[in-house]
Amino acid sequence: MPEYKAPLRDIKFVMNELLNSEQHYANLEGAEDATPDMVDAIIAEGAKFCEQVLSPLNQVGDREGCTWSEASVKTPTGFKEAYQQYVEGGWPSMTADPNYGGQGLPHSLGLVMSEMVGTANWSFGMYPGLSHGATNTIEEHGTEEQKQTYLTKLISGEWTGTMCLTESHCGSDLGTLRTKAEPNADGTYAITGTKIFISAGEHDMAENIVHIVLARLPGAPEGTKGISLFIVPKNLPNEDGSSGERNAVSCGSIEHKMGIHGNATCVMNFDGAKGWLIGPENKGLNCMFTFMNTARIGTAIQGLGAAELGFQGSLAYAKDRLAMRSLSGPKNPEGIADPIIVHPDVRRMLLTQKAVAEGARALIYLTAQQADIVHSGKTEEERKAADEALGFLTPIAKAFLTEIGYEAANLGMQVFGGHGFISEWGMEQNVRDARIGMIYEGTTGIQALDLLGRKVLMTQGESLKGFTKQVHVFCKENADNEQLKEFLEPLAALNKEWGELTMKIGMTAMKNREEVGAASVDYLMYSGYAVFAYLWARMAKVALDKMVEGTSEEMFYNAKVQTARFYFKRMLPRARAHAESMLAGADSLMDMPEEAFAI
Ligand SMILES: Cc1cc2nc3c(=O)[nH]c(=O)nc-3n(C[C@H](O)[C@H](O)[C@H](O)COP(=O)(O)OP(=O)(O)OC[C@H]3O[C@@H](n4cnc5c(N)ncnc54)[C@H](O)[C@@H]3O)c2cc1C
Repeated sequence: MPEYKAPLRDIKFVMNELLNSEQHYANLEGAEDATPDMVDAIIAEGAKFCEQVLSPLNQVGDREGCTWSEASVKTPTGFKEAYQQYVEGGWPSMTADPNYGGQGLPHSLGLVMSEMVGTANWSFGMYPGLSHGATNTIEEHGTEEQKQTYLTKLISGEWTGTMCLTESHCGSDLGTLRTKAEPNADGTYAITGTKIFISAGEHDMAENIVHIVLARLPGAPEGTKGISLFIVPKNLPNEDGSSGERNAVSCGSIEHKMGIHGNATCVMNFDGAKGWLIGPENKGLNCMFTFMNTARIGTAIQGLGAAELGFQGSLAYAKDRLAMRSLSGPKNPEGIADPIIVHPDVRRMLLTQKAVAEGARALIYLTAQQADIVHSGKTEEERKAADEALGFLTPIAKAFLTEIGYEAANLGMQVFGGHGFISEWGMEQNVRDARIGMIYEGTTGIQALDLLGRKVLMTQGESLKGFTKQVHVFCKENADNEQLKEFLEPLAALNKEWGELTMKIGMTAMKNREEVGAASVDYLMYSGYAVFAYLWARMAKVALDKMVEGTSEEMFYNAKVQTARFYFKRMLPRARAHAESMLAGADSLMDMPEEAFAI
């Protein structure tokens, strides 16, 4: 497994030079503590923890996995101690509400830490990641009493959390879920049902686990309009707030799976467990939507992490491994062969990973800034605009980044040749771990329907226009910049085409709704490549400006421009194929009768 090195220079480039975080934080309500010095200190401290504590446990987690016995789960060696250190470092409280023990730092800063934790050790990062989901839910929708009881413990990290949505017959279609919630005489509810695939559902790292559970009240309407949200703790809280008597919830088993072995994926049985309603009756799914965007950006990080880790491992290997001679003559004449980094195809694989990792970082941090504004923007108008931008960017970030992050992880393995397939190097683990990113938190197919159906067509293209307008302004403002021409011309053409393609699909969808489903994944991928083109053009501009000004970091900025060039010439053409495919119509998918899918 490659030893993870937090890419601090690039993190700072995106935060400070591309997205002007200092100004962004100064514009937020209550983000006074996020001064540049403070931000640097937090990131440096976080990086140390991820490199020294979490990264060495990544392969251990994969090898040992979690073990289940009589309803309890043992996490891999070192995970429990690492979690204690994580709690002692105050990391769980970073972005939480100061009224309940949080530090109130901006969400975007929390995501930088999540990036480092997740890249160093994704399986570990899921435990606090799920707690974060539970924290957000209670923070947003809980009563004061619920906040005092649960939020304080989740924020301190003494207790962890889960999100219990999926049942054996439904994951994407939660409208059909069956778990029941029956009112008790004391105002609580008896929760009965089985949830599957619950990440961090049971473990030995914390004294209590707070489950956030979707269930139906008696007589609730069918479908998504009849789902309510409940807090169901593993151990019932005592009067003094400590963890008390065992509730009727238990882990029936854990899954044996392709990757993320260090994270327990649990079957959770609720046998009349005591639960408390959060938010209004039958509005459970609406409540969840309020923080779904943040959770999805959290998953998008998995794509970034997979690309970054693959790149770090394969770059070192490509400089070291000798094989054959460069086509243009020996580059290492003293050695028996040249290092494989001289070969064009190895460079293609390295540059793809680099373009994905750095582009993903830019997209995630940009999206996270919108989440900050939704949460702490100073005016209603700002918050509303940011909410629209966040809604538009989130499915792209989640699905596009996990798809291309997985591709990048695969390329990381490919650079190693046969050795990539062998466990010792950790590259095959990276591929296995990354694969789930395209499935949970809404599959790529579901994200694509959300983007094209809900976000774009249902707003008559308004959310898309909000974004393409920004791109248009950027192209116009820099139209006289000769150095940027190679990026701006294709970007402007793509930006125009994006709107035209949307119109075409919108028109055909009016005649046949299947056209939306038929075009959606290609539309999402096209959108991802378009957003990346905008971000890579902006990154190239920052770097070119710096080089014109004069810099002692010529190599860093030059690499940015080279990577932007690689992206435009060698990755962006993929958008063409997606454009053609999305316009190909639903017939070639739907004309085949179901019976004809015979084996
Ligand atoms: C390791 C792991 C961890 C997980 N962690 C959690 C967790 O912590 N909490 C939790 O609640 N769940 C969790 N899940 C569940 C996960 O979120 C679901 O598996 C996922 O949402 C997909 O649901 P499903 O498995 O029921 O697939 P289905 O919904 O049955 O989908 C099957 C296929 O059909 C496609 N499909 C379905 N409907 C449509 C449609 N209308 N249009 C187009 N395509 C469609 C899907 O894209 C997919 O390709 C986890 C799963 C795994 C494997």
